[in-house]
Amino acid sequence: MPANRDVALVAREVLEGAYVLLTFRHPEVAREARAGQFVMIKAGTSADPPLRRPFSILAVDPERETFSLFLKAVGAGSRALADLPPGGAAQCVGPLGRPFEPPSDGSEALMVAGGYGIAPFLLFVRELRRAGRTGRVFYGGRTVADLQVREPFTALGVSLVPATEDGSLGHRGRVTAPLEEYLDGGPGPATLYACGPDAMMRAVARVAERRGLPAQVSLDPWMGCGVGTCLGCVVRIQRPDEPQAKYRCACTEGPVFDAATVVWPGEAASLARRRAVEVKG
Ligand SMILES: Cc1cc2nc3c(=O)[nH]c(=O)nc-3n(C[C@H](O)[C@H](O)[C@H](O)COP(=O)(O)OP(=O)(O)OC[C@H]3O[C@@H](n4cnc5c(N)ncnc54)[C@H](O)[C@@H]3O)c2cc1C
Repeated sequence: MPANRDVALVAREVLEGAYVLLTFRHPEVAREARAGQFVMIKAGTSADPPLRRPFSILAVDPERETFSLFLKAVGAGSRALADLPPGGAAQCVGPLGRPFEPPSDGSEALMVAGGYGIAPFLLFVRELRRAGRTGRVFYGGRTVADLQVREPFTALGVSLVPATEDGSLGHRGRVTAPLEEYLDGGPGPATLYACGPDAMMRAVARVAERRGLPAQVSLDPWMGCGVGTCLGCVVRIQRPDEPQAKYRCACTEGPVFDAATVVWPGEAASLARRRAVEVKG
């Protein structure tokens, strides 16, 4: 299991709204993290607040032994991290979780991000580039302030398509609209990747289902321990050969899952299972 370390904040950049970019020194995370993995981290080194919180690893710098987070302050844990001064201490375990799998040969990676769900895709784009692959990012939010990690993608020459519900940047409306428009253009084989609010990931899973495309989603349940002990983050997953869905820990078996194996709220079975039953029957 990755060690729990006291880490120091080496850089802090306050962005618009409740967002902040934080950089910590942590040699193992900087060296080993893969796209889609996360850290469990909390401000300070005392027992208060008691629980670490999960955050996707946005970027790593193995030479400086640092990693960065893109964090939205929504409650006590994230606010305490966002308020840390440079040099401030935190407790951190990582890298944790199952990363994104690269697309099969010849398939284009289409990444769909909502708000802070952009975080795992910067590492993913870098991994794809190292493997000589391409990708395209569809980045959605309520308003332009939710879309603040754009420049690192464009600096890497990645095509980034913004969408905002209020029309303040890019397409007005949901991020799945430009995704569908792109797919309607017949771009060739594609694999979908989604990270963001549940409703968005479920919409991307439906697009994949209708078009027969593979898809991976990075689920975002509440998490207590991050190492499979507290069972706070269980999600319903059903593989094709399983007659019943099983509760699986998103922290150890995810957060990235094959979208076809997720049993979304209100559904009786996963797409993978429904397909398997159709084939048999
Ligand atoms: C695998 C994984 C990766 C994640 N990566 C990131 C990331 O890169 N950046 C990031 O900012 N967050 C990320 N999150 C979400 C982050 O962990 C939560 O926002 C954080 O745990 C909230 O803790 P808190 O103590 O600040 O708020 P809490 O005290 O737990 O909650 C306070 C209030 O905020 C609400 N709330 C809690 N979580 C959210 C949320 N996600 N969105 C909106 N409202 C919420 C609660 O309902 C409550 O009303 C990730 C979560 C997971 C599971």
